[in-house]
Amino acid sequence: MSSHNLTLHIAFFPFMSHSHMIATIDMAKLFASLGQKVTLITTPYNAPLFTNSTQKSKEKGHQILLHIIKFPSSEIGLPEGSETLNFVSPELKERFLKVIPLLEKPIDEFLQNHHPNVLVADSMFSWANNVAAKQGIPRLIFHGTCNFAICTSLCITSYEPHMKVSSDSEPFVVPNLPGEIEFTRNQIPSFMKLEKEESEISKVFKASVDSDSKCYGVIVNSFYELEPAYSEFYRNVVGRKTWNIGPISLCSNDPEEKASRGASSSSMDHECLKWLDHKKPNSVVYICFGSTTMFTNDQLKEIALGLEASGVEFIWVVNNNKEDEQNKEWLPEGFEKRTKEKGLIMRNWAPQLLILGHRAVGGFVTHCGWNSIMEAIGAGVVMVTWPVGGEQFFNEKLVTKVLKIGVGVGVQRWVRWMGDNVKRDSIERAVRMIMVGEEAKEMRDRARGLAQKAQEAVAEGGSSHNDLKSLIHEILSLQS
Ligand code: UDP
Repeated sequence: MSSHNLTLHIAFFPFMSHSHMIATIDMAKLFASLGQKVTLITTPYNAPLFTNSTQKSKEKGHQILLHIIKFPSSEIGLPEGSETLNFVSPELKERFLKVIPLLEKPIDEFLQNHHPNVLVADSMFSWANNVAAKQGIPRLIFHGTCNFAICTSLCITSYEPHMKVSSDSEPFVVPNLPGEIEFTRNQIPSFMKLEKEESEISKVFKASVDSDSKCYGVIVNSFYELEPAYSEFYRNVVGRKTWNIGPISLCSNDPEEKASRGASSSSMDHECLKWLDHKKPNSVVYICFGSTTMFTNDQLKEIALGLEASGVEFIWVVNNNKEDEQNKEWLPEGFEKRTKEKGLIMRNWAPQLLILGHRAVGGFVTHCGWNSIMEAIGAGVVMVTWPVGGEQFFNEKLVTKVLKIGVGVGVQRWVRWMGDNVKRDSIERAVRMIMVGEEAKEMRDRARGLAQKAQEAVAEGGSSHNDLKSLIHEILSLQS
């Protein structure tokens, strides 16, 4: 039978955190836009995010189904309705991770009953290789980060260069990795080091490294031209089958669809967009630390003072503490009055893609979550890098040292969930460096060049578009 007449049924199962779910929905939309049938699997309280974010695609006739599985809150001691990792206390986050093994059974049942041709599951779900193998289908892994960070992480785990330095602040070069890339022990995740007591996250990390080596292949939200050396290293030296299909956030150009991404509505009536319409090109810096990072009140105060001292106009998203919306203790006295014309503080989910894509936005202060970085690259926006946890220090290095489209705010120490203490002077200096002067202009030119390449990569005939098609073709050929 010729594979040309067939379409695939692809099942996607993202981890329950906003950024993983948003990225997976974008990916699913890409496959559906090429005529494939996709099923997104999630839990009841997360369903509205999926329904809302896929509405427009469905109206276009794309085949996107939603399959709901139960979230076993009571079994892991979480309150009913706590079905995402976002903006909960560090203690609840650790407990949340205990859900991972409990989701194997419902996914196994789904595969038995619905017979998809392939399972795309988050790297957190290391059991996914086995459940896919039981049904005789390939499992693709989605790490949610770039080739550079994945390879850095694999090289550090394999060669343990951090065990050969004499202090936490002494730099080491990552062995084998192209480009003489340096880190310190302070900057690498605690779950990659030997911990006295193994935490939940380090167990998840070890299992995910193991399942990466055994999966059928890896989908990467990146594009070949962004990181060719690392893309090839992952393919040829590490030896994985990989497909770079990003930036996946460019899966739609429709403003309403961008507005609905990860949000509960697709309203375009955003105060921040109207506010930006009155600003000069590249004059505004956007500050947002993703969907899970939280800061202390003292740190928020320093950010406020640093922004004010920079003199640069800003949009600042403070998604910190949902219970605390009315409490403004973290704002310096008189701050709102003094910066009334210059800045906008948002307490709700911001339409990040629309903000980054607005001509008034010239810079982005980011915690270096990979989605945010790819979105900034897709929009040609330069960055102040402020890594906190996860693989964010690796992502920072790619932005500042390899791509040279950003400036570090100066954080030196990895922390699991809560940001480090950065002083106002460092914030002021870094913001000015990306927004004013010759160096800022050079960085912006480079960022614009990458945005152009990103657009070309996802267009018909571009490298990401070709990878997407060749992945579909390969899975189809397994059917025949
Ligand atoms: N995001 C958004 N509005 C917000 C906060 C975050 O749209 O107010 C989106 C952002 O566009 C990105 C994701 O949430 O797609 C955050 O992912 P990232 O990998 O940057 O960080 P994480 O949340 O995983 O720390």
